[in-house]
Amino acid sequence: MFWEKEIETMPVPELRAMQVGRLREMVDRAARTPYYGELFGRLGLSAGRIKSLDDLKRIPFTTKEDLRGHFPYGFLATPSEDVVRMHSSSGTTGNPTVVYHTRRDLDMWANLVARCMVMTGVHKGDVFQNMMGYGLFTGGIGLHYGAEKVGVMVIPAGAGNSKRQIWLMRNFGTTVVHIIPSYALKLATVFEAEDVDPKKDVKLRIALIGAEPHSEAIRRRIEEIYALDAFNSYGLSEMNGPGVAFECPEKKGMHVWEDSYILEVIDPETLEPVPDGEEGELVFTTLNREAMPIFRYRTRDLAFVYPEPCACGRTHRRIARIKGRTDDMLIIKGVNVFPVQVERTLMAFPEVGNNYVIVLEKVGPMDGMIVRIEVRNEILQGGIRHLDDLRRRIVRALSDEILFTPKVELVEPGSLPTTEGKAVRVIDRRAE
Ligand code: AMP
Ligand code: ZN
Repeated sequence: MFWEKEIETMPVPELRAMQVGRLREMVDRAARTPYYGELFGRLGLSAGRIKSLDDLKRIPFTTKEDLRGHFPYGFLATPSEDVVRMHSSSGTTGNPTVVYHTRRDLDMWANLVARCMVMTGVHKGDVFQNMMGYGLFTGGIGLHYGAEKVGVMVIPAGAGNSKRQIWLMRNFGTTVVHIIPSYALKLATVFEAEDVDPKKDVKLRIALIGAEPHSEAIRRRIEEIYALDAFNSYGLSEMNGPGVAFECPEKKGMHVWEDSYILEVIDPETLEPVPDGEEGELVFTTLNREAMPIFRYRTRDLAFVYPEPCACGRTHRRIARIKGRTDDMLIIKGVNVFPVQVERTLMAFPEVGNNYVIVLEKVGPMDGMIVRIEVRNEILQGGIRHLDDLRRRIVRALSDEILFTPKVELVEPGSLPTTEGKAVRVIDRRAE
């Protein structure tokens, strides 16, 4: 199903031409901001110099530090009275990165989210339970306005309070949920405890999952537990939030809406572009924003672009599942490890339950890794020998994947900490 078929299936040359026109408009707008105004002045850059997409390379990358360094209004392109909302990123240290929106910006953003939702099969008549946090975080409010545009009934449940979530689902016949993947797994344990069958006692058919890195194995688990289709949703507050890239029914990569963003993939070390199919850092330029145009924003998120066109007919390029952020990479015993590699390995074991955590500690002068894993209830009843065998098999599989041997501890279901927001998968105690 299409929300805006003409744009979604626009022939690539037309789409590129549209991008150039919009890029020119963005440069014009951005020249009014203190930050880009000064920068463009120095570089002698103006909208007239943008003749093709190649000219984007005349503009330097923008980083999170640039945004923070010009807090609070250095990137604002409109008079402040035209701003109707602000959001900020989930970063924990220093000034947050703040993003401002005009009324038109919010309308365009909601339109992109509606496009994503309709693409996955959401339609009028659906009951949409939005289980993401409402507030400065863009996940809750972002989906909320998109869903209203589609015309579904929205239940603005917000994050947490699992029993109430289940109660809402049962009483209002929720068909679509928006949920953080780690929380979807946690919620499953509450269904179990409440003796409610997530396949039969609720009518879920679609889950929109995103906001944190997760493996294909996690998606499949969520689909199995709830008997629904789960679609990956990618976004970041600097680029509005959700609605930047989303999976279509092919479930192979997320279409980046190229009428609204220019996507580049670069080598984070050399900053040179990498070819399609090769992993690199995602870089985005806004093409349809009044209050806060941003050029070549370095997301620190790692993924690759699928080289071939998508079978669904949409012409906008697809990015693969996010492997993690460049700063999520752990260096242990000289080996580079992404938490999602550990996750992928664990989730291949049917005995493994719905939560895990990686703890890094100093063992003498060396770095050590402990992986604490919740196992399923029935496994605990199998006796110590059984458990020890499972533990040994997991250690072996992990060593094959990450090339050193971690310590593995199997724990009871529900015993590891959870959050209502993005999961904290790594606890680093090496500095303690
Ligand atoms: P925030 O701006 O606080 O909403 O955080 C945005 C960041 O969350 C992104 O830059 C990614 O690192 C992460 N993120 C969002 N959606 C996904 C997703 N579907 N898969 C993996 N990581 C994601
Ligand atoms: Zn597609």
